[in-house]
Amino acid sequence: MIFENTKQFAKQLDSEDKLNKYRDEFIFPKVNDKKVIYFTGNSLGLQPKRTRAYVDEVMDDWANLAVQGHFYAEKPWWDYHERLVKPLGKIMGAIPSEITVMNTLTVNLHLMMVSFYRPTKKRYKIICEEKAFPSDQYMFQSQVNFHGYNADDALVEIKRRDGEHNIRTEDVLAKIKEVGDELALVLIGGVNYYTGQVFDMKTITAAGHEAGAIVGWDLAHAAGNVKLELHDWNIDFASWCSYKYMNSGPGNASGCFVHEKHHNNPDLPRFAGWWGHNKERRFKMEQLFDPAPGAEGWQISNIPILSLAPYLASLEMFDEIGMEAIMEKRDKITSYLEYILHEIDKEVKGGFEIITPTNPNERGCQLSVFLHGQGRSLFDYLMKNGVITDWREPNVIRFAPAPLYCSFEDMYNFGQILKSGIKEVSE
Ligand SMILES: *Cc1c(COP(=O)(O)O)cnc(C)c1O
Repeated sequence: MIFENTKQFAKQLDSEDKLNKYRDEFIFPKVNDKKVIYFTGNSLGLQPKRTRAYVDEVMDDWANLAVQGHFYAEKPWWDYHERLVKPLGKIMGAIPSEITVMNTLTVNLHLMMVSFYRPTKKRYKIICEEKAFPSDQYMFQSQVNFHGYNADDALVEIKRRDGEHNIRTEDVLAKIKEVGDELALVLIGGVNYYTGQVFDMKTITAAGHEAGAIVGWDLAHAAGNVKLELHDWNIDFASWCSYKYMNSGPGNASGCFVHEKHHNNPDLPRFAGWWGHNKERRFKMEQLFDPAPGAEGWQISNIPILSLAPYLASLEMFDEIGMEAIMEKRDKITSYLEYILHEIDKEVKGGFEIITPTNPNERGCQLSVFLHGQGRSLFDYLMKNGVITDWREPNVIRFAPAPLYCSFEDMYNFGQILKSGIKEVSE
């Protein structure tokens, strides 16, 4: 499609956009009395208006029913989490029994590693990406230390080539081959949080299995953003947070995937709790743990219902729209933003470089821009003028035009603000 950098053209794209009406379903913060242009849906999604009613419902049930809410609320609490599993299955490409909702992301990855990182004297290495999200790096280090290994030896990072911003699939595959029968686990972020690069999860998973390893994915930046077929790709386990593209609210509950092939394996160790116990007999208070079949068997505690209510509200919106429509708009609005960035760069010599892959198959809804020029002062200018982005050291601004609530007109307006910003900070 041939784009134009005009307000009229942007408005035309909005009028053709089937998702445009959902913009009204979200609450935007305001700067100078105007809705902000929100580029940080990859960090914390906006609040959907419908969420409050879901939370109020739980508050009312608690007020009116107290402990009886566990069984007699309209949405009973004891199995409330199961309502999330079906819509999540569609987003993640999983059968419902492979999914559960619990805890938070890093906690779930630790729990998954308890079951799936079983190092032996020979096979104990973990392959991960260079500069993984810090929480993941701390998790890896603490896990290998916990098992008595040295991180320098047990953690193998896949590096970027000199002068390149993204990791090549061929380099991941070569590293998997090289580590070979010392490889216990491959665990990578499906979408890199810094560059927005989408990894070829299917190919990498197959290669990890070929080497005899377990393969898991951290899907923090992938869930609700990119196409996922966790079941068909034969992924062993995955986990993701819900507060980024899935708009469930700050620090909210995480989702967890365990492939069906592991459901009936009694040899898998796990950290257990009563909410993972055989559902029919959970309240018999039996002494011996009998795991529920499926991902639910990894549950530990009773469910934080007040956290799940906003997640349910958001998933119902995703279900209404469908991932296909979301991804279609994502590609168009991300390409339009890319075009606007290049146009502004031509007009005012912004000196920025987009480090996210240009191929739409290798990116989702994020463009990371490396600023060779103004840097931090430009970021401050954008924030002051109602463009919410985030800053990552040393000199990167990430822009995520979340398709559920960002408009094409936002992209045009952003370009104009960016242009005046570049002029102002370079004066
Ligand atoms: C956002 C993010 C996290 C956050 O972890 P929490 O446990 O939810 O705080 C972890 N890993 C990646 C890759 C992320 O992008």
